Amino acid sequence: MGETHSVTNQPPPLADYDLFSTDPALPGAVVAEGADWAAGGLAAFGRELGTAGSFALGDLANRNSPILHAFDRYGHRIDEVEFHPAWHRLMTLAVGQGLHSAPWAEPKPGAHVARAAGVYMMCQVEAGAQCPVTMTYGAVPALKRQPQIAAEWLPRVYSRTYDQRFRPGAEKSGALIGMGMTEKQGGSDLRANSTRAEPVGARGSGEPYRLTGHKWFLSAPMCDAFLVLAQAAAGPSCFFLPRWTPDGERNAIHIQRLKDKLGNRSNASSEVEFDGALGWLIGDEGRGIPTIIEMANYTRLDCALGSSGLMRQAVAQAAHHAAHRTAFQRKLIDQPLMQNVIADMAIEAEAAMRLSLRLARAYDRPDDPSEAGFARIVTPAAKYWICKRGPMLAGEAMEVLGGNGYVEESPMPRLYREMPVNSIWEGSGNIMCLDVLRAAGRSPDSLDAVITELNVARGVDPRFDRFCLKLTDDLAGGPPHEGDARRIVERLVLALQAALLLKHATVTVADAFCASRLDRDSGGAFGTMPRGIDAGRIARAAAPL
Ligand SMILES: Cc1cc2nc3c(=O)[nH]c(=O)nc-3n(C[C@H](O)[C@H](O)[C@H](O)COP(=O)(O)OP(=O)(O)OC[C@H]3O[C@@H](n4cnc5c(N)ncnc54)[C@H](O)[C@@H]3O)c2cc1C
Repeated sequence: MGETHSVTNQPPPLADYDLFSTDPALPGAVVAEGADWAAGGLAAFGRELGTAGSFALGDLANRNSPILHAFDRYGHRIDEVEFHPAWHRLMTLAVGQGLHSAPWAEPKPGAHVARAAGVYMMCQVEAGAQCPVTMTYGAVPALKRQPQIAAEWLPRVYSRTYDQRFRPGAEKSGALIGMGMTEKQGGSDLRANSTRAEPVGARGSGEPYRLTGHKWFLSAPMCDAFLVLAQAAAGPSCFFLPRWTPDGERNAIHIQRLKDKLGNRSNASSEVEFDGALGWLIGDEGRGIPTIIEMANYTRLDCALGSSGLMRQAVAQAAHHAAHRTAFQRKLIDQPLMQNVIADMAIEAEAAMRLSLRLARAYDRPDDPSEAGFARIVTPAAKYWICKRGPMLAGEAMEVLGGNGYVEESPMPRLYREMPVNSIWEGSGNIMCLDVLRAAGRSPDSLDAVITELNVARGVDPRFDRFCLKLTDDLAGGPPHEGDARRIVERLVLALQAALLLKHATVTVADAFCASRLDRDSGGAFGTMPRGIDAGRIARAAAPL
């Protein structure tokens, strides 16, 4: 075959780099939020994640979605899901780093922040494996409510061994926990749950019940146990359902099908039926929603972290491409309009990461009423706005790669498909915004904590001061109308992000954020920052190599 052309002006793949040290803001944010002791371990994790081999695992795990084996070849129900080996390797990485439980197993100041930084990096390589990891992390406080279950299960949950075998808990060297709330007739409205729970003998905390009903979404069904919401006599209650019963039988948790999803394709999300499945009551009958919502707070934090990580990876890919690709005789990254686009996305990603890590710090200090109040209101707020910005940013970053960004060999389609789920699961956007209003109305510590956080950054930038004044005036003007919730929450998050950037980021980044987010005169597309910002500098710093 004759040679038709030589390949030029195509960037090298972005791989074999350190996700931690090449991040323009992550090492500083880890120190600022009180986890300086973790920097060495995070750098090692960042190097491991950044290898070409790790990125290939993410790609493989998503190209080879899990397969349900509801029955064996003889017709016995087995309810097992087969994953690609790449999934197991990714799980080994995540569990080995302690992303599923380290802050509980080895509590110390900054432990939730250190874990958060690990989650942020892990999601850049593969986000699906984060689902069981996150649910396990979130389940621990609920498990602690039931001493017998905690005594038996927490040592396995705390283990850093990923044990992929489908065996009863007692035989396993590590365990993962999932959760089941959503039913066909209603997901956000948990009181509409119809799954029933009948006591086997005595009723009450720690007692066994039989559950009959279904869950319309139950992700990571190969977890070793689940926290499940079901109706007992006193109302919605939280139950612990292991995959195996104490007598060594498979619990009657029947996997009906796996969802065929837009993204998150490495992870299995199933529909299940409970045919008298055995579950143990956690907490009191009728108190299931607060118990399971406590778990959801942690998983919501992880949605914000996950979208922040996905954004960072999208920006890194875009900046890398622009640094190597020439159009019209100049590198893309040297062209003013492209600099505006990449810099605008870079400050979005940095603001998202900084707020997520700041929020993780609040989880490090649950006994401080101000930090607990901060977590109460900022968790739903951050989840709403960060996850809302993700899909838009991923679409824009894809466009930076031109046609190359749209083909499946590129990482961009996977990043793009992965984004929306963080906005939907664990409470969709509207539910998050309504929850912020609830927190503002019912928890005085929450609003005070936010105002204190904003006050620390006042007096540096007049645009920020004006923005905060207007926001606090609006919040003081009585209970907001539900229909205004998104507008209020967006501004609350922008103010918090600006405060963090003014305190911790470079002057260039903080100035760009205030100019483009607090003084906006455009429709909000990326690349519309006003003149006078050093966009070239921000864009170049976003390229990892
Ligand atoms: C890939 C995937 C995996 C999942 N895994 C799990 C899992 O493991 N376990 C689990 O329990 N669930 C899981 N879910 C379900 C998920 O949590 C729900 O889909 C989500 O909470 C929304 O519930 P719903 O689908 O019933 O929508 P609905 O509750 O019907 O909501 C539909 C829309 O209406 C909005 N809305 C609802 N009420 C109001 C209101 N009062 N005012 C204004 N707007 C409102 C919502 O924000 C949403 O946009 C998963 C979902 C996905 C996509």
